[in-house]
Amino acid sequence: MLTLVNLLKDGRFHSGQDLGAALGISRSAVWKQLQHLEAELGLSIHKVRGRGYQLAAPLLLLDSQAISSATPGWPVAVLQSVDSTNAEALRAVARGESAPFLVLAERQISGRGRRGRKWVSPFAENLYYSLVLRIDGGMRQLEGLSLVVGLAVLQALRNFGVSAAGLKWPNDVLVGDKKIAGILLELVGDPADVCHVVLGIGVNVNMQKADEVDQQWTSIRLESSVSIDRNALVMELSKQLSSYIQRHQMEGFSSLQVEWEANHLWQGRSVSLIAGSNHIDGVVLGIDCQGALRLMVDGMEKIFSGGELSLRLRDDS
Ligand code: ATP
Repeated sequence: MLTLVNLLKDGRFHSGQDLGAALGISRSAVWKQLQHLEAELGLSIHKVRGRGYQLAAPLLLLDSQAISSATPGWPVAVLQSVDSTNAEALRAVARGESAPFLVLAERQISGRGRRGRKWVSPFAENLYYSLVLRIDGGMRQLEGLSLVVGLAVLQALRNFGVSAAGLKWPNDVLVGDKKIAGILLELVGDPADVCHVVLGIGVNVNMQKADEVDQQWTSIRLESSVSIDRNALVMELSKQLSSYIQRHQMEGFSSLQVEWEANHLWQGRSVSLIAGSNHIDGVVLGIDCQGALRLMVDGMEKIFSGGELSLRLRDDS
């Protein structure tokens, strides 16, 4: 099926006969595969009598060679379809692949959010990006790491024209109230000894329609009105990640605390912090030097950290 996508990706007309010859199948088998493509990948294909088949718009797919040459030191795997790039990255760690390395995919069938939530991941529209790092005996190298990834994503988005993007503690990137990127860190091994951390990043790039997303969202395309070359975005994101991770490793999270707070969209807002079935109401003061949330609760400053916490705005915010 993906060979057929590659034949059609130029957006030109291709006759059923030519497609059949290239694939070594009959014209009716081509027709079935085309229907399958539309249903499975959500691609829209025009059929014109006498001319053949044409994608509604040309597809610019991820180019592993171009990406590899621009990300020296990080071997890159580009998959057409995967359950989740984080899951694939974790499997690669289990197989003994040596980090750092990068896993990208054109689509995810079971893209992951936090606590088992789903990340909607249509074919060839967005970035599904997982970078694996090896951490040697340094809990400090994990401190605030998901916030550091947020800064790198934010900078990449700004450099692609999304100037209004900002952060929401701990791991969301928003434009106003709309989510444009999500970050999910997953860890294997012993953080006190040797472990691997997967920095999973989903960025909405050219997506213009996604009925399955059950909260407000946006994409770079919707914000900037231009179609984005995802290969260029991968390279920019890798550049930003490399530089922020290096700074984090050398100087610790505290060196990024002020920059993070300056980009926090919910500074000073009235929020509810959700921890399982508990809700704590407070006002966001900022973060501490380890990336934990500082909330004013009943006139007292309190500190919260941990992967299971979510913030929601209160009506009076
Ligand atoms: P939290 O504040 O806990 O991070 P969240 O709802 O943002 O809450 P995440 O785990 O960060 O949770 O992200 C998963 C959620 O993001 C999904 O439940 C869905 O509401 C939303 N979502 C899924 N796919 C997309 C997408 N492609 N773009 C924007 N939002 C999405």
